[in-house]
Amino acid sequence: MKACILEKPSPVENYPLRFTDADVPVPQANEVLVRVSACGVCRTDLHVCEGELAPRRSPVIPGHQIVGVVEEIGEGVDVPSIGQRVGVAWLHQTCGKCVYCRHGKENLCEQAEFTGWTRDGGFAEFAVANADFVYPLPENFSDIQAAPLLCAGIIGYRALKLTNLAERDWSGVRLGIYGFGAAGHVCIQIAKSRGAEVFVATRDRERHQKLAEQLGAVWVGDTLAEPPVKLDAAIIFAPAGEIVPAALKALDKGATLVLGGIYMSPIPVLEYSLLYGERIVRSVANNTREDGREFLHEAARISVKTSVRSFSLEEANEALIALKNDAIRGAGVLTINC
Ligand SMILES: [Zn+2]
Ligand SMILES: [Zn+2]
Repeated sequence: MKACILEKPSPVENYPLRFTDADVPVPQANEVLVRVSACGVCRTDLHVCEGELAPRRSPVIPGHQIVGVVEEIGEGVDVPSIGQRVGVAWLHQTCGKCVYCRHGKENLCEQAEFTGWTRDGGFAEFAVANADFVYPLPENFSDIQAAPLLCAGIIGYRALKLTNLAERDWSGVRLGIYGFGAAGHVCIQIAKSRGAEVFVATRDRERHQKLAEQLGAVWVGDTLAEPPVKLDAAIIFAPAGEIVPAALKALDKGATLVLGGIYMSPIPVLEYSLLYGERIVRSVANNTREDGREFLHEAARISVKTSVRSFSLEEANEALIALKNDAIRGAGVLTINC
């Protein structure tokens, strides 16, 4: 098969991914082989390729927003079946036994394996996944449309959950989104459909700010600009620690600030007054399968539309460079067998 392989992390301008031939992986017990049709490009892939996430498997095939069709099943697999379209996400598998797994927090599992980091991922024509961790995909999404939902979408959904806003009816709730790429542009659609007013702070007038306006943000400003009202909750998707004090300053008392990335540059020293007033800062780490299922259901119900720029598999380095330079409006997706 054709695959993009990372041997050694390096700035993406050096083209660390090598487009080459590789063996088609063989599904073991409880695994499925997926013929990849599209694979989203996530900021985490950038962190893997550039080494902000230390290598855990080397060489490795990155990519963890895989849409494809089950080609083969390993021993003991009942579901999914051969020919079924599935999505494969970041959480490759968990141990099921540790204290986190036993208490509904499998996203924090001590022994978790991750697609495209500790296991080979979807920047390839085929990928192997754990049968218990793949998602059936709602029919209303095409392969390319569905790919960014599998990480950007699910993590944004979990971030919304962690804002502690009351379930479901968000009429009049003021939500801030900092950084408006793949995750932000899906997250705003969910938040708005629940009734929230969304305030977006992001760089790039031409791409990100314009998209935020088109998707119905009530206010759009530069990354460190102060929204006109106090926010009931905010999410930072950009990996930049210097946004934290600015976002805290925009929060109302008792409000929560959720940090949506797996990596963030250092957070500057904080004046305690920014936090005082029972403001909460918390991160999002991975997601549970329950988050994934709930999100895909809600995304299908409200007909989330992803804005996508597609690249060929061979262009994976270019896609990562474009992502790094903020040159993708919405989400980047590698299209493979489609
Ligand atoms: Zn566990
Ligand atoms: Zn991701």
